[in-house]
Amino acid sequence: MTSIHSFKQSVISQPRELERLIKGIKISDGAGVNLTRVLSVKLQKRLDPFLMLDAFGSKNPDDYIAGFPDHPHRGFETITHMLTGRMRHRDSTGNEGLLENGGVQWMTAGRGIIHSEMPEQKDGLMEGFQLWLNLPSINKMAAPFYKDFQSDDIPEYITHHNVTVRVIAGSSNGVNGAVTRESTEPLYLDVHLPSTTYFSTALPDSHNAFIYVYRGEVTIENKKVSSQHMGILSNAPDSNGITITATEDSRLILVAGKPLNEPIVQYGPFVMNTQQEIQQALDDYRAGQLA
Ligand code: FE
Repeated sequence: MTSIHSFKQSVISQPRELERLIKGIKISDGAGVNLTRVLSVKLQKRLDPFLMLDAFGSKNPDDYIAGFPDHPHRGFETITHMLTGRMRHRDSTGNEGLLENGGVQWMTAGRGIIHSEMPEQKDGLMEGFQLWLNLPSINKMAAPFYKDFQSDDIPEYITHHNVTVRVIAGSSNGVNGAVTRESTEPLYLDVHLPSTTYFSTALPDSHNAFIYVYRGEVTIENKKVSSQHMGILSNAPDSNGITITATEDSRLILVAGKPLNEPIVQYGPFVMNTQQEIQQALDDYRAGQLA
């Protein structure tokens, strides 16, 4: 049973504005999974500490059935948020878990992990997100970490306007989420707004932030963000949060974090600070010493 938390609504006097709209691009990844890449390499600096956001959503098994067989990661964290569907995770540290409707998997690759992410359904809708969150240089070679959160493990609150807020990471209006991280202070909310309602939450002005609308249509300071679009939020100094208004029944994720301001060097599933560290990751992987 999901625990419904009491909350304390913060007042947002200086809300952020919408800076830019992004429509994702269709790509194929893993063994042939069709995805929409919303946050791509081009946005890594602007949305530091976030490195990637993929949205998946299809009723056609051909789009997802191939899954992601064994592959490595080093230097960052992956957050997989399953709205609908079933996916089996297995990794080199011996962890295994089944990600199901509403569940979240938080994995810190750290110095290295090899894992597989395979659908455990033959048909029907599979919908959700995978977000990549960078690690500061001092933690890139830390021990790997992995945890599954079933839907009922995600703290939730319901506002006076009947907006449901699921707090996956960070804290919102006094409700602490399932995960907290000191270095990047990630906020990850799944917000369900009935038509004509609004939702507000505080955000430090220096944190980079975006929303991704996966149902309906919302406005941010009178600028529209429709379904399947990401809205990057401005970082105006002295802004203290965000207010989102739903023009119809809407669902979105709100993601924010403290920038690391460190060099980002990515080579596929490895994200380090220098080319030399990438070479080391490749050497370690080829020598069977990554994980
Ligand atoms: Fe992976």
